[in-house]
Amino acid sequence: MPEYPPLVKKLMKAYPGKITGYKNDSLVWFDNSKMQFDNGKKNRPYDSLISSPDVEDQFYLPYSTGAILSPKKNEDPGRVRNENFFKKMYGTTKKDVIANCATVMWLKKSLNQKILFSKINGANIQLQKVSDELDLLPDSLKKYLSPLAGTFNWRTIEGTNRLSPHSFGIAIDLSVKHSDYWLWQKTKNGELKYRNKMPLAIVKIFEKHGFIWGGRWYHYDTMHFEYRPEFFAI
Ligand SMILES: [Zn+2]
Repeated sequence: MPEYPPLVKKLMKAYPGKITGYKNDSLVWFDNSKMQFDNGKKNRPYDSLISSPDVEDQFYLPYSTGAILSPKKNEDPGRVRNENFFKKMYGTTKKDVIANCATVMWLKKSLNQKILFSKINGANIQLQKVSDELDLLPDSLKKYLSPLAGTFNWRTIEGTNRLSPHSFGIAIDLSVKHSDYWLWQKTKNGELKYRNKMPLAIVKIFEKHGFIWGGRWYHYDTMHFEYRPEFFAI
């Protein structure tokens, strides 16, 4: 690839055929339309990052795999999302997104539940691989995997007017009963205390196939997994 910024190269590797180049500081999309990559604003406060990020801001922190650690304040790798980027990738309306979805059979052997997931970038194929591997886990871990709390759902993120990644058919929520979510926690001084019950064995299988986990966020959402291959592209 020519002299593209390293983060642009990651996007091109993760989304081949969707992001095809880089010109005049903008991403070039499959239909030759352009999208600003970096607006040049640096060291923005977390609230403004999360509410109005450019595409480059999505990488404000690298995503780390490995042992489950308690994230530091406002460390949410993958939670900063530019809505136009996801609309361009997966569909602008509910109808468009559905047209881009395919069926995944969740836990074929033990449950065989049909769920809708985007087929853009082969996200559905990756989720099927995840599911097939999860199916091989010991029965003691199956309670985390169903009933599912949600997959495709055109909705905003609780307490915001931003579209949830569930709107784009790239996110899946496992069992609520065995999960923790930052908004459920009553804070005394505004500081969150990290909580998690999701076993690392489950997290590892998702990450292996290009999914990030909401349990690695300060604003933890431990049932939540989201297809974001750019965080694993080298
Ligand atoms: Zn979720």
